[in-house]
Amino acid sequence: MLALLLARQGISVVLLEAHVDFEREFRGDTVHPTTLEVLDQLGLAERFLELPHRKIRQGGVPTTPPLTIDFGSLPSRFPYITMMPQSHFLEFITREAASYPSFTLLMGATVRELIRDDQQIVRGVRFQTRDGRGEVRALLTVGADGRFSRLRHLADLRAIKSSPPIDVLWFRLPRLSTDRRARWRSSKLATAWSCSTVATCGRSRICCPRVATSTSTPPACGLWAAPWST
Ligand SMILES: Cc1cc2nc3c(=O)[nH]c(=O)nc-3n(C[C@H](O)[C@H](O)[C@H](O)COP(=O)(O)OP(=O)(O)OC[C@H]3O[C@@H](n4cnc5c(N)ncnc54)[C@H](O)[C@@H]3O)c2cc1C
Repeated sequence: MLALLLARQGISVVLLEAHVDFEREFRGDTVHPTTLEVLDQLGLAERFLELPHRKIRQGGVPTTPPLTIDFGSLPSRFPYITMMPQSHFLEFITREAASYPSFTLLMGATVRELIRDDQQIVRGVRFQTRDGRGEVRALLTVGADGRFSRLRHLADLRAIKSSPPIDVLWFRLPRLSTDRRARWRSSKLATAWSCSTVATCGRSRICCPRVATSTSTPPACGLWAAPWST
């Protein structure tokens, strides 16, 4: 997104992505109203919503009694959660960025080193591709390489640690034509179920039988999550 914003200003920007596509790892499927509002401010929301997606207008919280959240009451032009694979979102953003001549995307380019000048100021990066090594010299180098950021490590920066009270188990399963809807939280995508559950105890056990054994325990997508009891 930053690369897109810089390119829109006519600033020359090179985006390096270690993988050859954005499909490599499951990273969730929800695009939230605030994200859509940002896209809207950039004039991109309408085009974005032309991509295949589903809208979730209500959600349930598994409390006793169960709580229903109505996203429709959000003070937003987009009072719903958009279900779309994150890879499609990233492809959309980079496609938009590519319409600006000042934007360059290098896929399959893994940053290995920072380039520093005599005063140890970072002036760019050296990267590796299948075809060999390369470098980008830049006034500003931004490390946006995820939780285990190599750039952060190379720059001797320390992440601020936090201690979230819950873990969220979130994953995708292939969707079969014989699957019925899961009882617990899952959303239908074109070819998959996007499943999530909150694990407050820190550890969970997941069982994945594919075939329903009785109508009283419909596995739908063939999956349960339960607190780890030992
Ligand atoms: C299981 C799961 C489900 C999630 N679900 C949702 C959701 O539904 N909705 C939502 O809004 N958020 C969701 N999130 C959070 C969201 O995925 C993250 O907040 C977001 O991906 C963080 O973006 P990022 O660019 O900081 O890091 P990342 O997404 O990790 O991207 C970092 C990128 O840097 C690349 N990279 C790494 N090292 C190098 C290197 N040396 N050189 C070049 N490139 C490199 C990686 O290949 C990667 O593409 C989920 C996260 C997880 C783990």
